[in-house]
Amino acid sequence: MNSSESHVGRVVRIAGPVVRATGLEHVRLYDVVRVGELGLVGEVIHLSDGVTTIQVYEDTSGIRVGEPVHSTGQPLVAQLGPGLLGQVYDGLQRPLESLAKMGGEFIQRGVSASPLPEDFGWEFTPCVSVGDHVNAGDVLGVVSESRTIEHRIMVHPHMCGHVEIIRSGEFNVHETVAVIRLDEEAKGGYIEVTLAQSWPVRQPRPCLSRLAPREPLVTGTRIIDAFFPVAKGGSAIIPGGFGTGKTVTEHSLARWADADVVVYVGCGERGNEMTDVLEEFPKLEDPRTGAPLMERTVLIANTSNMPVAAREASIYTGITIAEYYRDMGYDVLMLADSTSRWGEALREISGRLEEMPGEEGFPAYLGARLAEFYERAGRVICLGSPINPNAHKRIGSVSVVGAVSPPGGDFSEPVTQNSMRVASTFWALDYDLSRRRHFPAINWTNSYSLYDFHDWFERNVAPDWDDLSREAMALLQREVELLEIVKLVGTDALAEPERAVLAIARILREDFLQQSAFGADRYCSIHKAYWMLKTIMDFYRRAQFAMESKVPLERITSLPVVSDIARMKEIEVENVEMEIKTIMDRVQYSFGEL
Ligand code: ADP
Repeated sequence: MNSSESHVGRVVRIAGPVVRATGLEHVRLYDVVRVGELGLVGEVIHLSDGVTTIQVYEDTSGIRVGEPVHSTGQPLVAQLGPGLLGQVYDGLQRPLESLAKMGGEFIQRGVSASPLPEDFGWEFTPCVSVGDHVNAGDVLGVVSESRTIEHRIMVHPHMCGHVEIIRSGEFNVHETVAVIRLDEEAKGGYIEVTLAQSWPVRQPRPCLSRLAPREPLVTGTRIIDAFFPVAKGGSAIIPGGFGTGKTVTEHSLARWADADVVVYVGCGERGNEMTDVLEEFPKLEDPRTGAPLMERTVLIANTSNMPVAAREASIYTGITIAEYYRDMGYDVLMLADSTSRWGEALREISGRLEEMPGEEGFPAYLGARLAEFYERAGRVICLGSPINPNAHKRIGSVSVVGAVSPPGGDFSEPVTQNSMRVASTFWALDYDLSRRRHFPAINWTNSYSLYDFHDWFERNVAPDWDDLSREAMALLQREVELLEIVKLVGTDALAEPERAVLAIARILREDFLQQSAFGADRYCSIHKAYWMLKTIMDFYRRAQFAMESKVPLERITSLPVVSDIARMKEIEVENVEMEIKTIMDRVQYSFGEL
């Protein structure tokens, strides 16, 4: 953000993060300004009758009326280029490590720090030659950013022309790697291209077209993959009261979900929770490559003790970085923990602006803002030519998972309700389940997924996947109804087949749905989930059949193979098919014996 001296205004009013100034005639909505002698970063959010309203991203205490305000003439932008991965940023994309070096324990106000490492030399290998015509999004060359991610240096989305100069070798992010002679219709002239580009965070990055969600984002969490899958390029929300497992679930997703790049936005959570993330993530290993997980992760940390306005911005900074990697052709997962704190930031700023409050004091535009955010998720055909010459298009995706922390776990509050309207998958965390230590505490009666991946599962897992999942869910629903009856009249009132439903549903809950995020069972491949579910449902079918021949339920539930089923979780992913088939044979044999 370069500051220009041309438009200097004066502060006339200060209300927490909201500052009003006069004398900024040429400023535009969403331009970034520097407020006061300290040069605090702010953004213009309202313009009227010569008065400019600014939301300031830093603590405004000590600022006085009459201090100067400088316009930068630019919106809030993210710097995009190699070196993003592995970084920990604040909501304005300032690397926390550099800020810590400058200011010790506390972040100094008004400081700038380059988001990308400035003096690191990246080995750039060009993919185009002098004279080639390049369009928006075309890959000019590549840089190996980490062991797993090839960073593709793309033509800016608003640019097309002929390559005049293209270099190879080692460059930092400010050095010119190519010169492009712009097409006449793109105003002509020459543009020097570096390894980095910038993009206004509040604007979605363009793509060629959007694709329907066809494929699930496999997460390794059984209840999600089997019953409430989220699409690659889809959106999901995890609402839950305090301690129900939002953070643990998001961490599991960051670690195990089938994504190339993860952007984690810690938004307004307490400082100590974010410290856990910052301490834990660098120690984690990427299960796919064995490299540190941070090599494919970008963290944005904005804790509750940081200014609220920066929290509002952090979500946009995060999704812009996610879209940038999507444009290279990667599957990106963006996690936001928690969108409620983001909603609260909107509420606070709106209050300072003295806007008419909507439901529970949130501004009337809360729903629109949430929708704008979730709509930036998607699976797209990217701008530019395909990476792989054999493919005819480049496809990338951004999947968004937002945690919601409704006060008292009450899902009828505005942030949960507005998020439900736009996200297609809903994982409802449940106090009761977490109190009983049933983890993940995703309630299977309230949760839903609007996606249909029937074809994908049939092609990639097994033709009977959908049937198994539907039958298992029906069994769990039946259990809920029966438990209601039991509550009223006791178990004795149930017939034997109904008691069988309770017995098998319990096996499903304990041996399939429950999955600790900490033990060896924390990741379950989709094939393992399939074989586990198949075994349990096979057991159920055989039990029903046996009972028709008057075998008592007690004899069925005390079969030794029941404990083999309980141990399926522990089977190593590599040996799944063989070991579980052995258990299925044992099931068949046991019922034969009966
Ligand atoms: P929240 O973010 O909703 O406040 P956390 O994610 O911090 O809650 O979870 C609270 C506690 O619940 C964790 O410390 C952990 O002990 C337990 N927990 C949550 N999810 C799981 C899980 N999948 N497996 C095992 N324990 C879990």
